[in-house]
Amino acid sequence: MVHQGMQQRSDEDFMREAIAEAKAAAKEGNAPIGAVITIGNRIVARGHNKVFTRYDITAHAEVVAIQKLAKKIGTFELKRYKLFSTFVPCAMCLATILRANIPTVIYGAEAFDAPQFSSGIHQRVNRAVRRIAEDRIRFKGGVLRFECARLLANAKPD
Ligand SMILES: [Zn+2]
Repeated sequence: MVHQGMQQRSDEDFMREAIAEAKAAAKEGNAPIGAVITIGNRIVARGHNKVFTRYDITAHAEVVAIQKLAKKIGTFELKRYKLFSTFVPCAMCLATILRANIPTVIYGAEAFDAPQFSSGIHQRVNRAVRRIAEDRIRFKGGVLRFECARLLANAKPD
């Protein structure tokens, strides 16, 4: 319920929360990428990259947040939610976002801001899936891009 006079939280505001998750990932020795899922003014799930600590190549921030929310609300039908990520989602995350019917993805850094995370065949797959996903998902990139990219600058790729 939105009360009168309550200010809508901005995309930048939610991205700051995703950046805090990215910093938590880095502290654990994972790629500094974070995500939050929102509905209206509320954050309903948070996630950060857990690839190295879990030895799980699928534990990207976006997937971790989606898993948490689905478990919490008892469904993976997420068409009322928005996903924020500090880095442009990869093909695996986009496929997961499509399966969950999340209609809006807002992200910070672009692929070329962190080439060590998005090179060669991975980048070709990412671009192909992104083109397909654009039929169903509304993307907004570059939110707090500099801050998100700076986190990734010296990070070890996963
Ligand atoms: Zn991913």
